[in-house]
Amino acid sequence: MQTVVPFVDLKNQYQSIQPAINAAIQTVLDEAYFVLGRQVGEFERQYADYVGVKHCIGVSNGLDALRMALSALGVGAGDEVIMQANTYIATTLAVSAVGATPVFVDCDPDTYMIDANLIEGAITPRTKAIMPVHLTGCAADMDAIMSIAQHHNLLVVEDVAQAHGAFYKGKMCGAFGHAAGFSFYPGKNLGAYGDGGAVTTNDDALAERIRRIANYGQRAKYVHVEKGVNARLDTIQAAILSVKLPHLAAWNEARAQHAEKYQDLLTGVGDLKLQKTPLGSTHTYHVFIIETEQRDALQKHLHANGVQTIIHYPTPPHLQDAYAELGIPSGSFPLAERLAKRTLSLPMYPELRDDQIAYVADQVKAFFKR
Ligand SMILES: *Cc1c(COP(=O)(O)O)cnc(C)c1O
Repeated sequence: MQTVVPFVDLKNQYQSIQPAINAAIQTVLDEAYFVLGRQVGEFERQYADYVGVKHCIGVSNGLDALRMALSALGVGAGDEVIMQANTYIATTLAVSAVGATPVFVDCDPDTYMIDANLIEGAITPRTKAIMPVHLTGCAADMDAIMSIAQHHNLLVVEDVAQAHGAFYKGKMCGAFGHAAGFSFYPGKNLGAYGDGGAVTTNDDALAERIRRIANYGQRAKYVHVEKGVNARLDTIQAAILSVKLPHLAAWNEARAQHAEKYQDLLTGVGDLKLQKTPLGSTHTYHVFIIETEQRDALQKHLHANGVQTIIHYPTPPHLQDAYAELGIPSGSFPLAERLAKRTLSLPMYPELRDDQIAYVADQVKAFFKR
């Protein structure tokens, strides 16, 4: 069957802003300043202001943002970094990339955020940082996390790859930790037209160091004060992001309205459980997740009827072959592992239409009526 409701629709959004995007790209082509052109600095200023922090450093992608934030903060071999077990593997890879060891704790079964009550039990003399992930588009329990970090003298690096524009008690995600990493992967709430990312921080020295690491460790041209990498944000991507940023609040609002409609239509259907928004947090609905015992059969039914869905995520990082070295047996994080078996993400993007939402809900209901 033909796709009736795609999981995301990037073409539709491009068409809605096409003249401005095309003009912005054309300007970069005309000026021909393809690497670290003025548009990068302009976007960085706009994004720092948007998040409410002093600095934004545009970088190559979200994984690099997290990896360079950790490395600039001095996290490395021998250090442990605490994160939730049900995150996307990029959070974990960022920690391994700097030579540190990821330490997992389980999540809250209703909000899917890190269970802050479990963090202190995971702290050892080697613990250097906590990486809260604002998973699915809402905020982790930042009051609890910041207070634990302060009490144990730990660094906090937020993974905001899924929560551009989400607020926790009036402050935007990405403004809490020592640093925060964002992804501008095309499907994220603020997406470029290729890879992109950013680090935000209020720390002047840290910002300068991350900027330097991302650009060959250069302090000035051909003056290399440390062993950096090449992980800069492209000028064309920065220009695109500047066109899209003013729309982000309205796009997030549209997602929240779609979520409300899904909730109205799906509450009480079959054995479905819907995600709870954490206390103190807004929800930007990067993904809209439902939970059911019959996840795989439901996904098959939806696909057969033209509804694209995705599983976020079928295997948690600790059970991936890449992390066999950690020797963490299956069953170690029962709630995260249960979510991996039960969750399904329904189509969610700002341009989703009411008739599409109704169609998805009707198909879900039809499945449970069989
Ligand atoms: C997408 C994502 C990343 C990584 O972003 P990339 O730009 O794809 O490298 C990191 N963490 C989470 C939670 C993500 O969803």
